[in-house]
Amino acid sequence: MAAPSGPPALRPRLMDRYRRFLPVTDSTPSLTLGEGATPLVRASRLGATLGLSNLYLKIEGQNPTGSFKDRGMVVAVSKAAEAGAAAIVCASTGNTSASAAAYGAAAGMEVIVVLPKGQIAVGKLLQALMAGARVVAIDGNFDEALGIVRALAEQDDHPVTLVNSVNPFRIEGQKTAAFEVCDDLGCAPDILAIPVGNAGNISAYWQGFREYADAGLVDRTPRMWGFQAAGAAPLVVGHRVDHPDTIATAIRIGDPASWTKAIDARDRSGGRIDAVSDDEILAAYRALARQEGIFCEPASAASVAGVTRAAAAGELESDALIVCVLTGHGLKDPTTAERQAASVIEAGASVGAVSVALGW
Ligand SMILES: *Cc1c(COP(=O)(O)O)cnc(C)c1O
Repeated sequence: MAAPSGPPALRPRLMDRYRRFLPVTDSTPSLTLGEGATPLVRASRLGATLGLSNLYLKIEGQNPTGSFKDRGMVVAVSKAAEAGAAAIVCASTGNTSASAAAYGAAAGMEVIVVLPKGQIAVGKLLQALMAGARVVAIDGNFDEALGIVRALAEQDDHPVTLVNSVNPFRIEGQKTAAFEVCDDLGCAPDILAIPVGNAGNISAYWQGFREYADAGLVDRTPRMWGFQAAGAAPLVVGHRVDHPDTIATAIRIGDPASWTKAIDARDRSGGRIDAVSDDEILAAYRALARQEGIFCEPASAASVAGVTRAAAAGELESDALIVCVLTGHGLKDPTTAERQAASVIEAGASVGAVSVALGW
């Protein structure tokens, strides 16, 4: 009897499901940790408070390492393996390192990460370290870390493949999220709202929507609405920000690598890129958890913060079909959660004491 070839295809591998749109060949290794096929959840309660009847959330925190970075990383690391690479390197605000470390480990590669010291959510750092990545923390910001790894990847004496989103295979993999949104809705949304940091993801979604429309699988493309944190909003102010600052560490970036592509996505889609304050981000972060039961990381809530503001300003039709991308999982950043959450109620070990503590 032939050995079973694997589990039943209830949840096809991302790279198989969208193979015709991806740079996959017969010699591309079959690497997977179960990325993609993330839920698109209708936000009925939050939608009702905003006056929006068709608000959806794309829950990218349910990827294997807890962020959308896995979609791009599975393609980038597979292609690196196909090319014979033994080592990968990246700069990171956290999630790229967690993802690179996991896929690098699964592919048997050495992984090197350069990140801004003290600016990485604790869960992300532990993910990278647990997977055996060598992590170098620099006295500098993400933009400086990216400059360093770009230079390292160009040196000949230590061959390493750069897996930041300037690696085109990252964008190729990440565009599959746009395919999933269209497949789940049966059409493209009116508006796709998304947090923007290095601007790879907004560029990837826009590419995905265009490819689906070009293939005749949807009959239109959405307006792309990107949201940056007010303290790290170079695309909004129109110039590089030297000292980006926000509680949303995943989008604490002052000089986005995909600047031109993001502006192109905005303009060609009839969209916008705006800034939201840390207070707006945290309000959306709490509302998502309390009203929808969805715990995302602070940066992810920028998409909902932006839509919340637009709804309050009367800029949205109540039945507009809106998808907010929630880019990463809330458990990655327990420090911010601890500061935003209520305290535990303490009580003695009796029914009476617990009743009193509950105010019953
Ligand atoms: C990487 C990341 C972003 C920003 O994506 P870009 O492609 O850099 O614009 C937003 N949210 C989370 C959780 C991320 O990990």
